[in-house]
Amino acid sequence: MDFTKIKDARIAIAGIPYDKNSSFLEGAAEAPPLIRKALHTDSSNMWTENGIDLGLSSTIADVGDCEIRDFANDIELGIDSILERKLIPILLGGDHSVTYPVLRSFGKKYPQLAILHFDAHPDIYADFQGNRFSHASPFARIMEENLAQRLVQIGIRTMSGHQREQVKKYRVESIEMKDWSDQTMIDFDTTPVYISFDMDALDPAFACGVSHPEPGGLSTREAVRTIQQMKGRIVGADIVEYNPRRDPLGITAMVAAKLLKEIAAKMLSSPGL
Ligand code: MN
Ligand code: MN
Repeated sequence: MDFTKIKDARIAIAGIPYDKNSSFLEGAAEAPPLIRKALHTDSSNMWTENGIDLGLSSTIADVGDCEIRDFANDIELGIDSILERKLIPILLGGDHSVTYPVLRSFGKKYPQLAILHFDAHPDIYADFQGNRFSHASPFARIMEENLAQRLVQIGIRTMSGHQREQVKKYRVESIEMKDWSDQTMIDFDTTPVYISFDMDALDPAFACGVSHPEPGGLSTREAVRTIQQMKGRIVGADIVEYNPRRDPLGITAMVAAKLLKEIAAKMLSSPGL
């Protein structure tokens, strides 16, 4: 990572190009440069819907990719180096396993933290196919190490019996897609919030470029509206599981860039920033 371009930016964008804990398909490691390209394409602009120009140096800056030789340590150390500069990270995965080492870093700075987790899958298997670091397990690790006081999941539509038990055990507030309504409001009060956005939370009609497309998900507008209307101070975020190998027209890359912009807008207009 390179911090020389930061100047007066509040938000640091960093890639975490890692997909070795994917259980089904590789490809998510190729996502960060394609999301960056979609963010800067001339087919759109850098303005957020609430009127912030992300082209200004005082908003976002890109610090490049996290170097990963050792999954368990290098991601955590990379995030440490962002947080210790008082920057707010928006991280581009990578598969969803990266969220656990990211949250280990956040745990040192934020002993009280809530997570808003968008996903088709609860990702809370005790282990998956014998891998405790699987992309199907990050939230089991996060909850057993008390790295979050609250975990709110939305978009869920693949709950298995074991995961339903895990959700109960760790008191996860899992809002399943079958129970979702336009009136669902997410309120975190005063606890700082980390957003973990798995692209497969969206319906494959809106974002086909994922390794595990699951029909019956959120629309892009429902996800954007949830981010815009939720109550809470966002102190970090990741956008994970975009798989460019499944995105022939590059539309899912545009959706990921759109989410990045609206998450940044929410961070920059959060009270107490
Ligand atoms: Mn996931
Ligand atoms: Mn998922």
